[in-house]
Amino acid sequence: MGQRLMCVVAHPDDECFGFGGALALAADHVIETSVLCMTDGQAATHRGSAESGLELGASRRREFAASCEVLGVTEHEVLGYHDGQLQNVPVLEAVEHLVRRMRRFQPDVVITFGSDGGLNVHLDHMMVSFWTTTAFHWAGRSNRFPEITTVFQPRRLFHLSTDVFLPDRQPPIPSPWTVALDIETTRKRKSEAFERHASQAPLMERTKPFFAEYGGTEFYTLVAEKEPKPARQMTDLFEGLS
Ligand SMILES: [Zn+2]
Repeated sequence: MGQRLMCVVAHPDDECFGFGGALALAADHVIETSVLCMTDGQAATHRGSAESGLELGASRRREFAASCEVLGVTEHEVLGYHDGQLQNVPVLEAVEHLVRRMRRFQPDVVITFGSDGGLNVHLDHMMVSFWTTTAFHWAGRSNRFPEITTVFQPRRLFHLSTDVFLPDRQPPIPSPWTVALDIETTRKRKSEAFERHASQAPLMERTKPFFAEYGGTEFYTLVAEKEPKPARQMTDLFEGLS
C-alpha cells in the first residue's frame, strides 16, 4: 500500500488557504490524500450571491470539491456541523467521526490546525485541532471506540504553524515548527484552488499581497510520532517514513 496523508479542517477554503501546498505536493509524490471538512461554511462573512445559509453551504460544498480537485486530493468529505459553533459539538461525537475515518483510510501522516487556531485564531480551528489530536491518539487504542474496526495508529501528527501574521488580526501564538515545507512548485495550484472558492473572492483579493510575499513555504510542527526520538528539523512531512 502506498503512503497516505489525512488533513482535517473546519471550513471550505481552509484546505487550500492553510494546507494546499502540502496536499498538492503529496499528489505530486503519488501519496493518497483524504480531506475532511467539519462544516460547510454557512457563517462566512463573504456570501457571494447566496440568499440563505443553506444556499451558501451548498455552493461552498461545490467550491470545496472543485478546490480539492485542483489540489489532486484523492477523497474529500464535508460534514454537516454548524460553522462558528464547533465548541458546542460533544467532544466524543466529533472524535468518533475522526477515529472512524482514520481507521478506514489508514493515513501515515495526519495534518491539522495548531492549538492557536491558525492565522485568524478561529475557535472552530482550535476545536478541530483538539479533536484531531485526540483522534490521532485514540485511533490506535483498542479500548477507544472498540466497535469501530480495525484499530490503526497513524505514524505522525503535524500541526500547522506560521512565521508571519496577518496585518489586521491579533497574532496567534504558533508552535515552533519542525518542518519548513518548500511549496514553491505547488504555489500556482494553491492559488488556483483558492480561486475555486468564488464566494470568498473578496478574501482572496485582500490576502493576495500577503501570499505573494510569504506564500512559498508552509510551516508544520511535528507534535506526535509513533517512534520515540528527539525533535529535529525536517524538510518533508514524510521524511524517513518508508
Ligand atoms: Zn477556517
